[in-house]
Amino acid sequence: MKQYLMALDQGTTSSRCILFDRNGTIVSVAQKEFQQYYPQPGWVEHNPMEIWSTQMGVAREAMEQINIDYRQIAALGITNQRETTILWDKVTGEPVYPAIVWQCRRTADICEKLDVQGYSDMIFQKTGLRVDAYFSATKIQWILNHVKGVRERAERGEILFGTVDSWLIWKLTKGKVHATDYTNAARTMLFNIVEKQWDEEILKLLDIPKAILPEVHDSTFLYGETDSSIFGGGIPITGVAGDQQASLFGQACFSRGDIKNTYGTGGFLLMNVGEIPVFSKNGLLTTIAWGINGEITYALEGSVFVAGAAIQWLRDEMGLISSAAESEEIAMSVPDTNGVHMVPAFVGLGAPYWDPYARGILTGLTRGANRKHIVRAVLEALAFQTYDVVTLMEREAGIETLSCLKVDGGASANNFLMQFQANILQSVIQRPQCIETTALGAAYLAGLGVGYYQNLEEIRGNWQQEREFLPTMSVHEKEERVRGWQHAVAQAML
Ligand code: ADP
Repeated sequence: MKQYLMALDQGTTSSRCILFDRNGTIVSVAQKEFQQYYPQPGWVEHNPMEIWSTQMGVAREAMEQINIDYRQIAALGITNQRETTILWDKVTGEPVYPAIVWQCRRTADICEKLDVQGYSDMIFQKTGLRVDAYFSATKIQWILNHVKGVRERAERGEILFGTVDSWLIWKLTKGKVHATDYTNAARTMLFNIVEKQWDEEILKLLDIPKAILPEVHDSTFLYGETDSSIFGGGIPITGVAGDQQASLFGQACFSRGDIKNTYGTGGFLLMNVGEIPVFSKNGLLTTIAWGINGEITYALEGSVFVAGAAIQWLRDEMGLISSAAESEEIAMSVPDTNGVHMVPAFVGLGAPYWDPYARGILTGLTRGANRKHIVRAVLEALAFQTYDVVTLMEREAGIETLSCLKVDGGASANNFLMQFQANILQSVIQRPQCIETTALGAAYLAGLGVGYYQNLEEIRGNWQQEREFLPTMSVHEKEERVRGWQHAVAQAML
């Protein structure tokens, strides 16, 4: 009987299940979107029961598609939207409040207060995170303080907290296991990533009872078995990681200095920095890449707020392209941008500029500038933004030259963008055959946990390239282009 790996990929807008074979090839996919709730401006919620039911629905559907039962699933891995916060009753399993989604800004004022009170540095040194409403900590605090009776129940030990991975593990094991992995714990802003434990001082500061927190384990670990009522028999749950870390793993970025970028709506860059955490001076985050066999690997994380979203803007707001894919052909139909630069600072600028008040700008327009130049300038901007973060990462990690950048996400399909990225970074861009790297990473972690794979080398051997892009631009020209970009950025920050 052929054995497969099941990855549950619980994302922000949909739940997916992908089944992989040993080569890391997709054999079955099922996906279901679920409702987003916006009860007030800036607030975002999910229904934890919908997260669970859609996730189970797609898991069964993926199995039915290839007509297999639980005995043909060697192991189950979970990867998930990070930071999203759920509190539930330990006995009834009822969530006490909707899931507060990572995007939700309702606790921005709590964070501002922590910052004003001077706690930011302490929190950064311990968690690797900049105090922000994204992370779970203040969301937990909000629920404890605003939902009637929950704090008292939590103090009596009746309430559990979990990020989405914990919630799924708890549901899959019918309440037997309350656990999370290092990568998810690292995004709560409650976990000391150096000491590898929940941080008493931060818990005290935020008045969060320790009893609600899950146990933290390696990303490859036998968390438990699925209850037989779910798939008809027990499947070992042996891999857990937050989405970006899972993607780093799925890209086989196992060595120090290995780096990947996901070109989705936003851009997510993660660099493996090895066994010693690197703390950024310029706003990058430090996080745990994974824990395997009791050893922690750390990562630097940087994000680009607007990546593919700028392509959507070209299509939906500007009407300059009819599909995202068309941008490639249009960009390639002109030799350059004719001096045009576009800085997509729609929501301010992140690393390394950190200017929340910057706004988008088109520069260098002359009478000859046309639609094609603008489209090309937007694609180039995605590459320049990536360049800015990668350069910063290299500097802060003390890693001299980047050997290659592994890419995934929707916009990584754009060949013009990838070639330009290779030119601007002056390094090799590698695009894998399987761009479902997040689910793949979860499957690999799970596979390691049951000996389906013996070691990382075996997984590395699975990584298959679809296409490679080599730099074709001279260093001189690259530098000129980067200067042009930086000039435009300076104008966006005026
Ligand atoms: P997410 O997971 O963030 O929703 P995806 O990885 O699915 O994002 O990528 C979708 C994004 O990629 C969209 O913003 C879209 O505009 C962009 N995109 C998709 N295909 C292309 C393409 N060929 N060229 C440029 N951008 C693209």
